[in-house]
Amino acid sequence: MLEKARSLLQKYYGYADFRPGQGQIITSLLEGRDTLAVMPTGAGKSLCFQLPALLLPGITVVISPLISLMKDQVDALHSVGIPAAFINSSLTMAEVRERLNAARRNQYKLLYIAPERLASEPFQAAFKEMQVSLVAIDEAHCVSQWGHDFRPSYRAVGPFIAALPDRPVIGAFTATATENVKQDIIGLMELANPAVYVTGFDRPNLSFAVIRGENKQNFIRQYVSANRNRSGIIYAATRNEVDNLYAALRKNGYSAGKYHAGLPDEERRQNQEAFIQDDCEIMVATNAFGMGIDKSNVRYVIHYNMPKNMEAYYQEAGRAGRDGEPSECILLFGAQDTMLQKFLIEQTVTDPERKMSEFGKLQAMVDYCHTPQCLRRYILAYFGETAAADECGNCSNCKEDAELADITLEAQKVFSCVLRLKERYGATLIADVLKGAKNKRVLQGGFNTLSVYGIMQEYPLQEIKDLINRLIATEYLCLTESEYPVVKLTPNGVAVLKNQAQVWQKVPRRPQRTADTNSLFEVLRALRKEIAAREQVPPYVVFADSTLKEMSEICPVDET
Ligand code: ADP
Ligand code: MG
Repeated sequence: MLEKARSLLQKYYGYADFRPGQGQIITSLLEGRDTLAVMPTGAGKSLCFQLPALLLPGITVVISPLISLMKDQVDALHSVGIPAAFINSSLTMAEVRERLNAARRNQYKLLYIAPERLASEPFQAAFKEMQVSLVAIDEAHCVSQWGHDFRPSYRAVGPFIAALPDRPVIGAFTATATENVKQDIIGLMELANPAVYVTGFDRPNLSFAVIRGENKQNFIRQYVSANRNRSGIIYAATRNEVDNLYAALRKNGYSAGKYHAGLPDEERRQNQEAFIQDDCEIMVATNAFGMGIDKSNVRYVIHYNMPKNMEAYYQEAGRAGRDGEPSECILLFGAQDTMLQKFLIEQTVTDPERKMSEFGKLQAMVDYCHTPQCLRRYILAYFGETAAADECGNCSNCKEDAELADITLEAQKVFSCVLRLKERYGATLIADVLKGAKNKRVLQGGFNTLSVYGIMQEYPLQEIKDLINRLIATEYLCLTESEYPVVKLTPNGVAVLKNQAQVWQKVPRRPQRTADTNSLFEVLRALRKEIAAREQVPPYVVFADSTLKEMSEICPVDET
């Protein structure tokens, strides 16, 4: 059977061979076994049900959450001569009836259906007259409240299958590998003794980087300028942030588009189309953008803010490099990102058990941003692949010329300044006081008379700011959740101040690093050089103050 599938793979799709996992999953379905396949975005899940659909008698029903996703897949099938159709809310009643009739007459091998449709009477009746061999549930995590994209309509899938005259084989497909979600899929879709495959989470062509303590706007400016004529996605947490980044890029002459749930449908559709057609280079978007989009030549995905968990991060970052060419996934981390995500969980999750779980997943995301170890290894371990090498050589932790250093003394200087300022001021003033700056605010406030004034004057101001931000990020310091966040000491910081603990952190090795061809590190080097050369450095801004106010407006992933 698998040999037949392989020859169809070559005949219809023109691919030489299966990718990791595809062969086993196809075999499992063809042998009539319910199968849960967990494969990352871009790994090639569609083929795993399309090829069995060709080999099995009768029809394969594909449950799919998005109109755009269905249309793309059906178009692709038509282009290689496979009879298929979709049924969703974009059709008139007459068209729906016509397609159901065609399906009854065995005119399709695959029928894509939106889950909302399944419960209706005419559907149930029509399906009683079809021979359904396989039900493929795409993006199956949508059935689970534990997933990142819960859709209540997916709950209709289990009863729909149960009502079919003959029990078909069920294949469930997702990129979400957490235990809760897997159990929900198996339980709610009523998979019988399923084979579970978790494969191919590694994407060797992607390089991963976490950037902490850099000015995010500067980073973006430098990065896009070094990456002209390359396609990329910049994800930001809020609509407001998307609008601002988009405006800044357009002002500087970049061909950028934007996408978030606050835009009219038509505009979103056009922007998405322009990006896919390479008419626009950079897509600035909230997490509403990207599900099911198969654009192969995305060369970088930058996260302007840390997402809420690793599943969301890997899915979004994984939209880079689907063609297998080297691509970069960069996460710009700021301490406020943690605050924002905590806030969102508090606001949106009421069930206490679920809240705990969300906080746990957020912690794993924050840990990713701080781990000194190989980022790829961290990701793969998170998704249950434990056999990864210690160092991949292709992430910022493996590559960046950094070393673990004892920075206890510097940290103590910062902490004592925070205390002297009675824990009532923000990071900018703390850095100014440590540097011994002579600006108006410092002089008029009389901060130049404090004992801590200028105790770090030999450091570049930006380095002091970076240090403060790293200390916040690693929770020696914290920020209050107010309009103008104030820096305070945490118990960890107090322990350091009392000489009860040391601070070790990965810091860039000095003096100059060696040449590196990776564009990301070129950008970072240029950025640091530029900042060092400037007299006046811009204040470290991660979020505009407006962000906190705007938090309630975060867009969920929404129907498109
Ligand atoms: P997923 O649903 O897992 O995100 P897709 O099914 O959309 O991924 O596939 C992603 C891309 O990989 C598509 O362009 C698809 O044609 C391609 N692809 C899938 N299987 C293979 C294969 N065996 N060889 C080469 N390309 C493949
Ligand atoms: Mg898919």
